[in-house]
Amino acid sequence: MEITKHLLMNLSLLLVLLFFTQLIIERQVKEESRERYQLFYFIISIFTCYIFSVQVQDGIHFDLRQVPMILGSLYTGYSFLLAAFTILMRGFLGINDGFWVSVGVFATLAIVLKWIHPWFNRLTLNSRVGISVLLTVITSFLLMQMVTVVSEPIRHPEAWISFILIPALTSGLVSYSIETIRQTFIIRQRLAKADKIEAVSHLSAAISHEIRNPLTTVKGFLQLLGEKDYPDEKKKEFIDIAVQELNRAEEVINDYLTFARPAFEKEELIEVDKELNQVLNVLNPLANLNGVKIRKKYSPELVISGDCSKFKQAFINLIKNGLEAMPNGGELIVQTFRTGTVIHILVRDTGLGMTEEQIARLGEPYYTTKGQQGTGLGMMVTFSIIRAMRGKVEVKSQVGIGTTFHIRFSNLIDEK
Ligand code: ADP
Ligand code: MG
Repeated sequence: MEITKHLLMNLSLLLVLLFFTQLIIERQVKEESRERYQLFYFIISIFTCYIFSVQVQDGIHFDLRQVPMILGSLYTGYSFLLAAFTILMRGFLGINDGFWVSVGVFATLAIVLKWIHPWFNRLTLNSRVGISVLLTVITSFLLMQMVTVVSEPIRHPEAWISFILIPALTSGLVSYSIETIRQTFIIRQRLAKADKIEAVSHLSAAISHEIRNPLTTVKGFLQLLGEKDYPDEKKKEFIDIAVQELNRAEEVINDYLTFARPAFEKEELIEVDKELNQVLNVLNPLANLNGVKIRKKYSPELVISGDCSKFKQAFINLIKNGLEAMPNGGELIVQTFRTGTVIHILVRDTGLGMTEEQIARLGEPYYTTKGQQGTGLGMMVTFSIIRAMRGKVEVKSQVGIGTTFHIRFSNLIDEK
């Protein structure tokens, strides 16, 4: 019973290890680092197996080492490395008959596994699990036979059961888990892609609608201008409206392009106060119209890295909302400061404020409380830009009192 208990302990430890490796792998974006961690899992597993090695008779050690060696070779392709490590670890238990059996079996196994690795990866999920189990059974059997040949026959009857059955079980469980994890990963990637495609197609629909409206208006005015000779005043009014409409169309296109390409082509230095001033200049007419007083509280010389025009875009959308939330006047405060390596930008308004539910929906495409006047795209774009710049946004708002957006950037540039 002692051996079985030991091997079962070993089995559960391998599964626990797999679980934790998985948690790490989940967070890796790059394929290479995922593979590296997977290889790391198998190496650690081989090491763990040796800790749980049981000596059944003189010079004969039992454990599950063949399982991580086989699965590791099949899934990662590094069969020689894993075989070498397995043999090395076995060496620490003593150079004796059992050791030479290990050398023979694992060296042969490495060659066979290297050879079938490409074929293995083309199999279906179930066949892969099946092959893993089959190879484990064959190897375990081979190891047992070899031991019988070079040393005394194994007397322990339990050893036969636990040394064939438990490795097979372990192999099945571990490879099945690996397969399931892989499957989930693939499905999740596919879903993310489908989500993106859906978002883009939704957007294209909204945008063509959004752009068609201003274009129709502009066309109408141009036709009016062509039909009759209006007084200059009237003409000017028509042209003003047409320009406004075109501006709106341009805005929608800008928003859309930003959203469709949230990855940045450019990494440049952004002088925070300079760019924020430009944003405020652009929005000044709107502030005057609403009777809003703008207050700047800048810390000088804050610089972050990113795409300048997108940074401005993000803050235009954000500050514009603040101004629009104060139709009857108020105060808009733009504040910047630095703590350690973090740069903070605060935009505070004394406007309408939002309820919890409104805050939660902020950034949802087309979510707007402004009816025809709103696009419901502004915050979505702002969030996507700030996210791409690895920034964080915190929103605090109280209905009737006002809203504060607190943005933190940690991609600070130290010129000194
Ligand atoms: P839009 O401005 O076109 O409505 P946005 O995505 O920019 O779309 O904003 C979505 C909604 O979030 C707004 O309609 C408004 O209800 C709410 N909102 C955003 N910023 C503020 C703010 N500073 N104060 C109050 N409400 C805000
Ligand atoms: Mg807006």
